[in-house]
Amino acid sequence: MSVLSLKIQQKLDMMSTKFAALLPERLERIKESADRVLNGERCGIQQFHLLVHKLGGAGATFGFVALSRIAKDIEHLLYSFINAKGELKSEDLEQISTLLQELEAQCEHGMKKVNTLSSDGDLEETLLEPVEDKPPTDKEKKTIYLFDHKRGVFQDLKEQLEIFGFTTIDVTTFSELETIEGWNRNRLVIIDTTALNEIEGAEIRLATLKSARKNRLKIVFISEKNDFDIRLQAVRAGGDDFFIAPVEIGRLIDTIDKLTERIEQEPYHVLVVDDDPEQVSYHAHVLQQAGMITSVATDPKHVVKVLVESKPEIILVDMYMPGCSGGELAAIIRQQPAFVSIPIVFLSIENSVDIQMDAIQSGGDDFLVKPIKEEHLISSISNRIERTRGMRYLMERDSLTGLLNHTNLKEQLSREVLRSQRTNTEICFAMIDVDLFKSVNDTYGHLTGDNVLKGLARLLQERLRKTDIIGRYGGEEFGAILLNTNTEHAERIMNEIRDNFSHMKQYSDSQEFHVAFSCGIASYKDFGEPAELNEAADRALYEAKETGRNKVVVAKKQR
Ligand code: GH3
Ligand code: MG
Ligand code: MG
Repeated sequence: MSVLSLKIQQKLDMMSTKFAALLPERLERIKESADRVLNGERCGIQQFHLLVHKLGGAGATFGFVALSRIAKDIEHLLYSFINAKGELKSEDLEQISTLLQELEAQCEHGMKKVNTLSSDGDLEETLLEPVEDKPPTDKEKKTIYLFDHKRGVFQDLKEQLEIFGFTTIDVTTFSELETIEGWNRNRLVIIDTTALNEIEGAEIRLATLKSARKNRLKIVFISEKNDFDIRLQAVRAGGDDFFIAPVEIGRLIDTIDKLTERIEQEPYHVLVVDDDPEQVSYHAHVLQQAGMITSVATDPKHVVKVLVESKPEIILVDMYMPGCSGGELAAIIRQQPAFVSIPIVFLSIENSVDIQMDAIQSGGDDFLVKPIKEEHLISSISNRIERTRGMRYLMERDSLTGLLNHTNLKEQLSREVLRSQRTNTEICFAMIDVDLFKSVNDTYGHLTGDNVLKGLARLLQERLRKTDIIGRYGGEEFGAILLNTNTEHAERIMNEIRDNFSHMKQYSDSQEFHVAFSCGIASYKDFGEPAELNEAADRALYEAKETGRNKVVVAKKQR
């Protein structure tokens, strides 16, 4: 079964109909260009070649197989002359004439095939229909059902989970649990193990519920006791994990993340470059239907501008474009340090290995041959972006917290300062340092210290906006770039997070303790350069430490 919906199939059918409608016009241009070549005008050969190449490519894309094959034959014949810079002999010219006649016949055939076409004059318009960016879908909050038949045992846990951005729902009976519909990978149940002994038939009911939901129901048990019998009961009831109370929140959240869908990904962003508007629309449309965001360029000259402005993650380029081939464009892109690692994938009807290798040598990463099945296009693009994202993640992120590392945080700060200059918006930089962290390590050990840092990172991710940029500045220090935010707002949000964090219960074995942080904030409006902004936030942080810790200080503008 194809991954394409009926809607896209209909849209593609419509595009194919439009393609057929424009066939006579294309054929006319090809014939004019061929006439010049057949009459001995050698300089027209490039143009002739390009036109048949385009026809072959588009024909293959829209399912006009025979037509595409003939165009390809003409193209290959011309290609060898262009390369060898030789003269076309009379038998070659004859062969071209014959192929052109066949091409004409195929064009007529193509026209008849789609005789349902309406004749109103909106063809170009529809083909050039703008390809709009699709906004990313809203993040669905993860929902945790707290099964607490005694009421109250999960009160602390409920508060902590909500601080971390989860939605919690209390459930007190199995009947309630059994009536919940639509279990998906964003939901999970946490159950107190006493339910297993105190509610009649609990183990069987849970196990049955789980198998009826085809294992989509994920269950985590929390127990006061740590003995073999209760662990076995939990396994038999379908438990996916087991925690001893009091629960270390960092570990529980890691487990919830593993058992549920990962925080949903940003959609892939692809730049499609092809001088042929039909092809651009078609490929962009296929990728959009697979949930990707697309930018398009029909003129290679605009590609670098689009790269800078819309930051795509991959470029899909047609090999043959007038004035600048795909390989040449790749070489130009690669001349610029900022785009050295952006993957470039060529898409062309060209299946000669030599040409493919040339294109790859000029800086491309892959070569896809038209016609390509929609599913294959989608999976080739997705796989490449996935791999690039994986590598980038390792290079840019801190391994303990998953936040940006020091170098990348500072790079982003410079970039955002530039952007805010351009757009005249306000950004704030917040620096956070955990209070008296050395004593946390000394008292509870380094591993517990690590969990506190992971918890704080997670809290910052949950509480700041998705667009804010958060990094681990080093050790127990973090930095956050708050976009479109003035100091009053930044101070308020950082104070809320500070308050939440200081009230969070941290555990080491069963010992409970609390940790706080201090924070310094500076606004780009008051300190114009990235380095100054950074220093000002650092000074404010120092002041927060000096004047009592567990507080937020905003840097004052210097005169
Ligand atoms: P202050 O309130 O003045 O910031 O006091 P502090 O104890 O937090 O400051 P100090 O700079 O003296 O100590 C920071 C400690 O953070 C020392 C270091 O061992 C610890 N630390 C740094 N990175 C990590 C880490 O990745 N994991 C753990 N567990 N500890 C870390
Ligand atoms: Mg420090
Ligand atoms: Mg510290």
